[in-house]
Amino acid sequence: AELWQDVPLAPPDSIFKLTAAYKVDPYPKKVNLGVGAYRDDDSKPWVLPVVKKATAKLLNDDTLDHEYLPILGLPEYTVAAAKLILGPESPALKEERAVSVQTISGTGANHLGALFLARFYKFNGPARIYLSNPTWANHRAIFRNVGIEPAEYPYYDPKTIGLDFDGFIGSLKDAPSRSAFLLHACAHNPTGVDPTPEQWDAIADVMLEKQHYAFFDCAYQGFASGDLDKDAWAVRRFVDRGVALLVCQSFAKNAGLYGERVGALHVVSGDKSTAERVRSQLSVLQRSEISNPPAHGARLVSLILNDPTLFAEWKQDIQTMSGRIIAMRKELYRLLTEEYKTPGNWDHILNQIGMFSFTGLNPEQAKAMVERAHVYMTGNGRISMAGLNSHNVSYFAESLDKVVR
Ligand code: PLP
Repeated sequence: AELWQDVPLAPPDSIFKLTAAYKVDPYPKKVNLGVGAYRDDDSKPWVLPVVKKATAKLLNDDTLDHEYLPILGLPEYTVAAAKLILGPESPALKEERAVSVQTISGTGANHLGALFLARFYKFNGPARIYLSNPTWANHRAIFRNVGIEPAEYPYYDPKTIGLDFDGFIGSLKDAPSRSAFLLHACAHNPTGVDPTPEQWDAIADVMLEKQHYAFFDCAYQGFASGDLDKDAWAVRRFVDRGVALLVCQSFAKNAGLYGERVGALHVVSGDKSTAERVRSQLSVLQRSEISNPPAHGARLVSLILNDPTLFAEWKQDIQTMSGRIIAMRKELYRLLTEEYKTPGNWDHILNQIGMFSFTGLNPEQAKAMVERAHVYMTGNGRISMAGLNSHNVSYFAESLDKVVR
């Protein structure tokens, strides 16, 4: 008998399935709003000009070779990455109590962080992580893979198409003390709904009171508001207030380096000697998982973060991307409210942040968008704003209008 007889067929990834259906659709006005990657005004992938410059510099650098990086990654990269997310004046950096590990982009950071928790976190009861409902689909699988059971906390309120703040706070209060909560640092995926600074402070209050652990996932720093510091606000605030935490960082979106897999995990401890022990264990885990991380992407990001001219240019490029997305939000809002006078309230289109937006469409309406209008979007009503541009936004608004009427 066949050895793998009993291996069940797994369902295809829903986003990849959507993209495949989009590709074979011959309809000329088709629109792909499933993708989680930036596209320019002509729906093309965009290589950041600063990345082109940094690549050229690397090509001309005769001192580089293809030797292994250290287990924890390229030091000039991890140091600069930590400063970027925690802030150059962070007490955690000054007191040398943050440990930074270069990872396989944000996914790898989530995995290593989860694995570290599975090994060393003193869960109060069964190993469990509280995830926002909804969240990035991969979170569940990443934690299950290391034996941590995903649980949910209320996050999105379909009635207001906004944050279910009371539900969120209630869940923080009801969870056993020392529970681990995964928090999206900014530009929540898939809803585009973030807490306000006041709400973040109230969340920190309860987390401190209940000694919860904050597992921050930060995949969109700079991409959300266009401002790297603003998008790191919640993480820095939690560090300042002494909430126990780690941060997963990705340069996939904000540097357009999706396929290069450049990320980092930063674990903030209470003191330097604890951080040393944490570092030693992260090193052991990393060694058995990937031995050492890949060099090219880390070299690129290191150049960009450590060279003031390149860093300034990168900020410009981030503005280009976030600016185009914000402009699309404004144009979509204008079309729906002024041009088509579409029934309902569309303020959330403006209020949400980052690449993704929950339109408020129900699964039937989302299905109708795909089947009738050839607008490819997920059943939960999420669209990628990056898929909209000056050529298709009007067709999208018109299709949306027809579906909700
Ligand atoms: N976390 C969230 C919330 C994301 O949306 C993503 C990407 O879509 C990631 C992590 C990880 O992405 P990557 O592994 O490409 O850095």
